[in-house]
Amino acid sequence: MAHIIIVGAGIGGLPAAYEIRELLGKEHRVTVVNATDYFQFVPSNPWIAVGWREREQITVPIAPYLARKGIDFFAKAVTTIDAPANRLTLTDGTTLEYDYLVITTGPKLSFSEVPGAGPVSSGGGGFTHSVCSVDHAQEFFADYQKFLENPGPVVIGAMPGASCFGPAYEFAFILDTDLRKRKLRHMVPITYVTSEPYIGHLGLGGVGDSKSMLESEMRNRDMKWITNAKTTRVEDGKLFVTQLDDLGAVYKEHEVGFKLSMMLPAFKGVDAVAAVPNLCNPRGFVLIDEHQRSKAYRNIFSAGVCVAIPPVETTPVPTGTPKTGYMIESMVGAIAHNILDDLNGRPAEAKGTWNAICLADMGDTGAAFVALPQIPPRNVNWFKKGKWVHLAKIAFEKYFIRKIKNGTSEPIYEKYVLKALGIVRLADRKK
Ligand SMILES: Cc1cc2nc3c(=O)[nH]c(=O)nc-3n(C[C@H](O)[C@H](O)[C@H](O)COP(=O)(O)OP(=O)(O)OC[C@H]3O[C@@H](n4cnc5c(N)ncnc54)[C@H](O)[C@@H]3O)c2cc1C
Repeated sequence: MAHIIIVGAGIGGLPAAYEIRELLGKEHRVTVVNATDYFQFVPSNPWIAVGWREREQITVPIAPYLARKGIDFFAKAVTTIDAPANRLTLTDGTTLEYDYLVITTGPKLSFSEVPGAGPVSSGGGGFTHSVCSVDHAQEFFADYQKFLENPGPVVIGAMPGASCFGPAYEFAFILDTDLRKRKLRHMVPITYVTSEPYIGHLGLGGVGDSKSMLESEMRNRDMKWITNAKTTRVEDGKLFVTQLDDLGAVYKEHEVGFKLSMMLPAFKGVDAVAAVPNLCNPRGFVLIDEHQRSKAYRNIFSAGVCVAIPPVETTPVPTGTPKTGYMIESMVGAIAHNILDDLNGRPAEAKGTWNAICLADMGDTGAAFVALPQIPPRNVNWFKKGKWVHLAKIAFEKYFIRKIKNGTSEPIYEKYVLKALGIVRLADRKK
C-alpha cells in the first residue's frame, strides 16, 4: 500500500486528488491537506470584488466531497516538510508520513516587496487591495461600497515581478463596466500601472494581437496606462512608480494619486515548501523535470502556480510567466499517470502540455488567448474578443465547481473551454 498526500486543495490540488484516487487501486491511501476547510474558485474573485458574486457561490466546503470519494482530509496548513524522512508536520503538530507527495500550494502573495502595498490582513501595508483570494476580494468590496459614495481616481495593475496579468486587465475592465452601469464612470479616472513592457505582453511576450487589441480596448474605455512600471512604494492614496525605458534606464518618475487601488503582487513559493533543502529555486518555486517530478526528491511531484517556470523573455522590469488553468490541468493529469506508473514499476514519462490558454472577462464582453506552446514561435498564437468569452467564463466557473462537488477527474479545459474556443484537439497527451 502507498500513501499519497496532496498539499494544497486549489485549482490544481483537488483535481489531482480526484484523478489520483480514480487511477489508483483501493489498497492505496490518498490524503489531502489544505490550509483552509474550503475550496475557492480563484478566477471568480474579481466578480466578488464588485459584488457580482457572493462568497457562497464560489467557495465549497472540502471535507464532505472528499469523504464521498474515500479521500482523507486535514484542514490544517503544513508547517514543515521533512523530505528525506517523507514526513509532514501540520500547524497542530500532527505528523503525516507519505510515500508520494504532490505539492500544489499555489502562490505566497509577496506584498512585502513593495512597502505600503497589499491588505493588512496578509501582512501588507494596507494601501492597495488584491483580488488573489476571496478574503481580499471581499475586503475590496467593502471599501468599494464606501468609495461609491464619494468616487475618485482608481489605479489597477501589477507589481514588479508579478507573473499573473490577465486578472489585472480583467479587473480593470470589470470595474469599468460596473461603474458605467452605475453611471459613475465619469467621476473615476482609471490608470493601469504594470511591470509589463507593453500593454498586452501578459508575461508571455504578447499573444497574437493582444497588444493592439488591449490598447484599443483601454482607449475605448478611457483608461490611461504606465508600462515598464517599477512601483517602489505606496502611501495613503499615492503610488510611487519609476518608469523604465526599453533598455532598463529610468525614463520617468510618477506619483499616481488614487482613492482605490488593486495591484497584483509578485508571487513566491509558500514558506513550508520554500524551506525544503534543494527543492526550490531562490523564490521558493519547486524545481521539477518535464514529468512534474522534483529534481531533488523522486517521490515528490508538483503542479500549478508553485512550480518554477522560466520567464518567456527578459523584460526591463521583471515579469514572470503566468500559470493558467489549462496548463495546471495538464500538469495534474501527468502527475496522476506518473504516480500510477511509478507504483507499477513502469517509467513515469507522462508530460503536461504546459500551453497557455486563458479566458479574461471584461464585464460585458471578454478576451481569450491561446499560446501553444508558451514560448514563441508558436503553432497557435491568437487573441480574440467577444461576448462569447464572458459567457464561456461563466460556464467555466459552473463546470469547475460542479467538478469539485461531483469529485470527477473530468478535464474541464479540454472538454468545455477548448471546445468553446474551437480548439478540439491539441497535441496528443502521452497517456
Ligand atoms: C485573481 C486571479 C484570477 C485568475 N483567473 C484565472 C482564469 O480566469 N483562468 C485561468 O486559467 N487562470 C486564472 N488564474 C491563474 C490560476 O489558474 C490560479 O491562480 C489558480 O488558483 C492556481 O491554482 P493552484 O492550484 O496552483 O493554486 P491555488 O488555487 O491558489 O491553491 C493553492 C492551495 O494551497 C493551499 N496552501 C497553501 N499553502 C499551504 C500549506 N502550507 N499547507 C496546506 N495548504 C496550503 C491554499 O490554501 C490553497 O487552497 C487566476 C489567478 C488569480 C490570482
